[in-house]
Amino acid sequence: LAKRARELTGDEIARGAAEGWNLADLVDRMQVTLVAGKGVGLAATQVGMGVRLLLADLSREGGRPMAVLNPVLSDGHGGVVDEEGCLSLPGVRVKVKRFASVKVSGVDLKGEPVRLEVEGLAARIFQHEVDHLDGILIVNRLGMAARLMVRRQVAELEDEYRLRLRRKKTPNAAVAAK
Ligand code: ZN
Repeated sequence: LAKRARELTGDEIARGAAEGWNLADLVDRMQVTLVAGKGVGLAATQVGMGVRLLLADLSREGGRPMAVLNPVLSDGHGGVVDEEGCLSLPGVRVKVKRFASVKVSGVDLKGEPVRLEVEGLAARIFQHEVDHLDGILIVNRLGMAARLMVRRQVAELEDEYRLRLRRKKTPNAAVAAK
């Protein structure tokens, strides 16, 4: 999650496929993860894909879930501090300062241009998800004092994650040893 995701190429967007994934299937899979986690946004990096693709659920804002490929944010205005959580950091909620409004550009799954101007929760979702694509987590956005406070919580999550990885790897390693 700490790596910067790469841009999708024009060819990948035209084919609707990248790194062995049909992009529409990937978005469907991400949508399921989003709903299951009761989240409002998800970046491809959170499901192990290092490409610039995000899903933003704007249904609470009168919109609908939308996938944006190669999203770019510009013209950020204002600053709002509010509490954020993250599906990749269960139980962690921290205050993060974000632009109040921001312009989003990119393309959709069909390769058609996406141009939006968003504010409020929608602006926060896009900034959070583009941060993910840049390898930035909400805990990296904190000041030093706040970071010290959540550090233990994050360390515990990382321990859990490593344990889970080890449990997952063990059977495979046994097979490989044969
Ligand atoms: Zn997140």
